[in-house]
Formats: sequence, C-alpha cells, structure tokens
Amino acid sequence: MTEVSGTLQQSDPALAAILDAELDRRQREVHLLAGENFASPEVRAVLAGPLGDKYAEGYPGRRHHSGCAQADAAERLAVDRAKALFGAEHANVQPYTGTSAVLAAYAALLRPGDAVLAMSLAHGGHLSQGSGSNFSGRWFDFTGYGVRESDGLIDLDQVRDLARAVRPKAIVAGAISYPRAIDWAAFRAIADEVGAYLVAAAAQTIGLVAGGVLDSPVPYADVVCGVTHKVLGGPRGGLLLCSAELAGRVDRAVFPFTQGGPEMNQIAAKALALGEAAKPEFAGYARRSVANARLLAAGLAEQGLRLLTGGTDTHLVTADARPLGRTGHEVERACEAAGLLLGTCAVPFEDVPPVQSSGVRLGTACVTTQGMGGAEMAALADLVGRAVRSGEASAATAELAAEVASLVGRFPVDRDARRPAESSA
Ligand SMILES: *Cc1c(COP(=O)(O)O)cnc(C)c1O
Repeated sequence: MTEVSGTLQQSDPALAAILDAELDRRQREVHLLAGENFASPEVRAVLAGPLGDKYAEGYPGRRHHSGCAQADAAERLAVDRAKALFGAEHANVQPYTGTSAVLAAYAALLRPGDAVLAMSLAHGGHLSQGSGSNFSGRWFDFTGYGVRESDGLIDLDQVRDLARAVRPKAIVAGAISYPRAIDWAAFRAIADEVGAYLVAAAAQTIGLVAGGVLDSPVPYADVVCGVTHKVLGGPRGGLLLCSAELAGRVDRAVFPFTQGGPEMNQIAAKALALGEAAKPEFAGYARRSVANARLLAAGLAEQGLRLLTGGTDTHLVTADARPLGRTGHEVERACEAAGLLLGTCAVPFEDVPPVQSSGVRLGTACVTTQGMGGAEMAALADLVGRAVRSGEASAATAELAAEVASLVGRFPVDRDARRPAESSA
C-alpha cells in the first residue's frame, strides 16, 4: 500500500489500485531513465504538506493574497538555500517545471522573433531549444549548433562561426542528451564577442554542480535554468539563478508573465532538497552517480553499443544502438519487457527520422540513490545486452525480468543512499 492508498481503499478503490500498482512497478523495475531520481520520503511528505492549498501570488513580502507569512518564510528559505548552494546573487524557485524556467528565462531576455543559438535537437538539445512543436521554435528564430562527427564533442568553432553569422540575442548552452561537461568559459567568450546573453540550460547537470562534480555555470551565464528533480533528487520543479541586476526581469518573467500562483508545497520541498544538497554526503552521492555512469558505459560498450563521445563526465550515458543491428526504440522496448527502463535519443549525423532514433540514453541517478555500485552497473550492462539479444517476447525475457526483479529487490527505492548511514560506497 502507498502512503495514501490505505485511506482510498474504501472511498476510491479505482485510484487506490492505480497507486498500488505504481508502487509495485517502481520497486520491481530498474530505473535508468536519464531525468529521473527518487525523492526522499521526507520530500514526498513535504509535497503532501499544509502549504499546498495556499494562494501566494507574487513574492515574499509582496503577495497578492493575505495569510502568506509561512509561504513567505518557506520561499525565503528555498531562495536563500539556492543562492548559498550555487553562489548566485539571485534565485527564483517558482517555475513549475524545467521548461517553465526556460520559458521565463527567454521571456526575461528576449522579444518574439529574436535570433537564438542553441544545441540542435538532433544533437541533444531539449524541445525548449527551438523545436517547432514548442513555444521556443514558434516564437524565436533558433539556429542549431552541434557536435563534431569525429569525437561527438560540442564544436565550439562552429558555435563561434554561427554566432558571428547569426548575431543571436542569446546563446543557449546545455542539452538534454549530452554526457560531457560544458565549457562555460568558452561559451561566455563567444557570447561576449557577439554581444549575446548566455543562458545555461543546466537542468540535467545542476545537481552535479551542487555536488561539486562539474564546474558551475553561475559565474558565466546571465541566467541559469535548472530543476530540483533529476540528480538533485528533490521535488519536480524548475529553478532560475541570475545576477542581482537581472533579478527583477527574471522574477517578473516568472510571475506575472508566464505563471500564476506558485505551488507552495513544491517550493517547501525545494527548500528541503536544496538543504540536503548542501551537505557533504550529497557530494559523495554526486561522485558515485558519475562513477556508476562510467562503469555502466564501459559495460554497455562491452555489449557492443557505441558510446557517443566515447564516455561520460556526468550521470548520463548515450550510445548508438546500430552496431547491435537495432534502433533505439527496439532496444527501449526489449529492455522494458525485461523491467529495464531506459530512453532513446537521436544519434548525431544519423539519417533516420527522429521517431526511429538510433540511440539510447541512460542515467544513474535512481540506481545510485538506491545504493547500487560497480558490481550492479556491470550486471545491468550485461542484462541490457541480453535483453537486446533476446528481443521483446520470449521465454528468455521472462527469465531476465525475474533476474532484474531479484537484483532491484536488494536495493529498495526508499533506501536513499544519499544518506551516509545507509551508504554502501
Ligand atoms: C529536463 C530538462 C528540461 C525540461 O524539464 P521539465 O521539468 O521536464 O520541463 C529542459 N531542458 C533541459 C536541458 C533538461 O535537461
């Protein structure tokens, strides 16, 4: 039973059954999805807490509603912790999601029709970096830069050439499917040369910045867009960091320009997660996430996948599935049938439509939270390889699913290895 399904058994058995089934699924499958993590039981408790009903439009001390004393205190706590954790002059913790944060960053800096340079979607950019099916591509004039074919790393010469040609109002650095560290100083230099703002799309990696594993974009970018889920392990939600000079524009871009009343339980849970991420144990967690990703990558390479960029500096692994004679989607489906959840991604320079992506993308935030280490990464790579070879529906798949369930059964999702007492590494 989940925390709530007990009381719902009588009043809403249909919903109780859904929540129970999800709890069962979550404990049975291995989560190697790049953007997911398991929030701690405390974060989940705060998300269900008493501030959730409170309307608190505006900002602490200047709300459009009465009764906001505790809302103000919770938001100030979250903002102060975000500023301290990232060494930022200003933080806005109201964006509902990562995409909401990006929308607000663009709203703070740009006008419709402005030219923007960002990682092309085919090379790892997020939908909010110029997709025609997203506000970004519809309202701004995006040009995409990409990676070099030779080594898969961001081609900074191309970024500079395109910046000189396009004269963008903003350059966006950061991606959803790029496993390497970003050279923020190089992006800053290019932005300065053409008089552009630099926006860091750091949602995937901001938790690794908090843990001291990656260089921070904060000293370089005008606005940093992040999230508190993913590696940071807090509630789903967005986060913006910027200079004191841009604070007013960023705040107005979130509310009232792109959002209504903030989700105060989410903000309280962000305060909790930002406090947890400031503890030394979190740095250990961040390091283990990257170490696990490197071991998982090495294991997948042994299984015959071709690692994009040849490895990883983060919790992410991206790989080309074509050497196995499979598309990314075929690998995803075969693995899901065995209880291994991973995602697909485009392989730069591939010549198939994005729906048939040739690549797979994995992340180690969940399994590291569960306390898995090197031995388990090797076992998981082996299981992925066997799942791909056995396909979607076979007796071997049922056998694999049982093996996966028994592996994950030794690492309960609420174990929370971010805490030292329960840490295995
Ligand atoms: C995860 C991510 C997003 C989207 O975050 P949501 O919370 O899903 O809206 C946007 N950009 C980047 C770079 C991301 O990694």
